[in-house]
Amino acid sequence: MTKTLDFDVLIIGGGATGLSAALYASRAMLKTAVVEKLAPGGQIMLTDVIENYPGFPDGVTGPELARLYEDQSVKYGAEILYDTITSIDVTGSSKTVVGSDYEFNAKSVIIASGGDHNKLGVPGEDTFSGKGVSYCATCDGNFFRNVPVAVVGGGDSALQESLYLTQMTESVTIIHRRDQLRASRILQQRALNNPKIDFRWNSAVVEAHGNGEMEYLDLKDTRTGELSKLTIPGLFIFIGFHPNTQFISKSGIEFDGGGHIITNMAMETNIPGIFAGGDVRSNSHRQLGTAVGDGITAALSAFHYLEDSI
Ligand code: NAP
Repeated sequence: MTKTLDFDVLIIGGGATGLSAALYASRAMLKTAVVEKLAPGGQIMLTDVIENYPGFPDGVTGPELARLYEDQSVKYGAEILYDTITSIDVTGSSKTVVGSDYEFNAKSVIIASGGDHNKLGVPGEDTFSGKGVSYCATCDGNFFRNVPVAVVGGGDSALQESLYLTQMTESVTIIHRRDQLRASRILQQRALNNPKIDFRWNSAVVEAHGNGEMEYLDLKDTRTGELSKLTIPGLFIFIGFHPNTQFISKSGIEFDGGGHIITNMAMETNIPGIFAGGDVRSNSHRQLGTAVGDGITAALSAFHYLEDSI
């Protein structure tokens, strides 16, 4: 039988936004829970060193920061629960949040469910996932010690992870579909000046091949259509991500054209008592610092909402 639990604030997602919201909500003496699918921390769990989070001039590792966030919110009474949320009923003053194991009655809900990495969607990508194809350099980089690897993408993630991969691999070939990078200037400069990184401009991966393990890629010149072969045992894909909003697709919560939740500056959605923040919301800067700010704002707004509804 499904267990039913009651909370003042239920936070969906245990990344930087969710854990920051939990800290503020629990310190406001609200009965607070964070529901997380796997382990708290979200995307920073996949990040090696974070250099642009204020207060850490020498950088901090993602897993260390995630542990600190979790400890701090639990210290003030927030509960961390593990479940996969499948739907939300937002009608009425008490919201019903349905998971695989629990059903939650919550006076307010903060959606901080983040997003998942995008896939290329080419033949061989799934076949060789975990056998050469990866979406996480800190998780899998060590499997490619002293061998060449390729990275797809031209954004901050692709360049930052490429720089990380140069520490253990023989070389990194960045495959980018244009001849201009999207990444910030500082990362561009570092990648372009790194002797272990080379670029395949105007190139797209069309298929990954191998026999058990990935062995080579078919590339296409995006301007001429010319095909070429790149022999490489590792392919890391960093081409952005999409918001996790499937479980609220039929809830009545409003989305933008990209499937992100629309909020105002107070992190309020179109439904009273439902708040959202972090990468799942529309127009997020998708930075750790802004994710934390969104979580705090959402928790303060939930506090005012609950005060007003007494
Ligand atoms: P992103 O900025 O959206 O960049 C995605 C990259 O992948 C772009 O270069 C894009 O090419 C390419 N791409 C997209 N779809 C593709 C496809 N189907 N095939 C080939 N290439 C494809 O994503 P991100 O790098 O994951 O960054 C996400 C957000 O997090 C950004 O706001 C970023 O600033 C932030 N971030 C910050 C840091 C940091 O501050 N250190 C680190 C990581 C991420 P085009 O350029 O041609 O569109």
